[in-house]
Amino acid sequence: MKKVVKFGGSSLASAEQFRKVGEIIHAEKDRRYVIPSAPGKRFSSDTKVTDMLYDCYNSASAHTDITEKLNVIKERYQEIIDGLGLQVSLDEEFETIKNNFENHAGSDYAASRGEYLNGILMAAYLEYEFIDAAEVICFDEDGVFDSEKTNQVLSKRLENMPNAVIPGFYGAMPDGSIRTFSRGGSDITGSIVARAIHADLYENWTDVSGFLVADPRIVKNPQTIETITYRELRELSYMGATVLHADAIFPVRREGIPINIRNTNRPLDPGTLIVENTCRKPKYTVTGIAGKKGFCAINIEKDMMNSEIGFGRRVLQVFEENGISFEHTPSGIDTFQVIVHQDEFMEKEQGVISGLHRAVNPDTIDLESGLALIAVVGRGMRATRGTAGRIFAALAHANVNVKMIDQGSSELNIIVGVSNEDFEAAIKAIYDIFITTEL
Ligand code: ASP
Repeated sequence: MKKVVKFGGSSLASAEQFRKVGEIIHAEKDRRYVIPSAPGKRFSSDTKVTDMLYDCYNSASAHTDITEKLNVIKERYQEIIDGLGLQVSLDEEFETIKNNFENHAGSDYAASRGEYLNGILMAAYLEYEFIDAAEVICFDEDGVFDSEKTNQVLSKRLENMPNAVIPGFYGAMPDGSIRTFSRGGSDITGSIVARAIHADLYENWTDVSGFLVADPRIVKNPQTIETITYRELRELSYMGATVLHADAIFPVRREGIPINIRNTNRPLDPGTLIVENTCRKPKYTVTGIAGKKGFCAINIEKDMMNSEIGFGRRVLQVFEENGISFEHTPSGIDTFQVIVHQDEFMEKEQGVISGLHRAVNPDTIDLESGLALIAVVGRGMRATRGTAGRIFAALAHANVNVKMIDQGSSELNIIVGVSNEDFEAAIKAIYDIFITTEL
């Protein structure tokens, strides 16, 4: 078995956290390739090293002396070195970094040093080989990630290497200049490495025990999702459930490699397993519930709309021409509704209204703002009768008025639109009917 293990910033924020990580890695010899993030927050008011690096680089760009700021960053690493009793000195590395900052090596270079230095410490601590991600994670000359080249280079490099530490978050362009992924991008590196070595599992270690069925700020102590498919995850992430970088899914998904989200602070928790497909029956009918506030509905009415061929196309074209993406389009015989993100729509509102008048000559256009959408997602819904009935009974019981309903053709999700004020009550009611009563 081969496993790739990625550790997030909070898992590597201090020597104490490094020790936990060391224990986790040594507990299984299959955990062979390690992807560290930069040190994250040690406590809630702390600052992530990545943010400190960006800040320091901004000062360098403004020609301010950065000695003090770099010293504070260096202390973060020194604390880890001392706490672990490592025989490593980062003096030379920090000299180089200072020079490069002063010579304006770029903010991507600056940010990447967080993972680079943490990788050096991790490799020394584990006595694993260190591989600079700049040598194996390739971006093209436009700065776009080159997945095929990376896959070739990486698989060749790791072919005869029993284990290695490869820092997350960055790689290099053909001219050698450093390029990073977007924030949280170490997740992507882990996934890329898992693909390249044909890993059996990609373990992503963080500070939560996996995905929760609902947002814990709304539902008290929600259950953890044991197994989720990539498609279900996509639906939930789209609605705001975040644990993993969205781009981290693609490399492993195409190889059918599962991802296991685990908690460094509770290593015995099984976490959430993300899979391409499974015949494992979900524990509850519903896998997860997620939602977002801040949508707006544009309700278009026109007598005899149903016989007007091309009506929907002309409506959507107006949105396209205004650069607005739509979320849903529920329709009736003489009504057509378009649901959009309110903040995206607001700036272009008047242009859209006049565009709609010109395009379809409606009887009325009515705008309804302050809508929240809730996605009830679950592969178990397909085989179960009465799911929609239970959702709406629960909402009625909680005195929540349903403004919109949309069931995806996959029967994987039911989207419910309610007013922003009813958002929390609606999620609680749906959670209770499916999880609390099925417990
Ligand atoms: N250190 C980077 C960030 O804070 C990348 C990562 O942690 O995944 O965004």
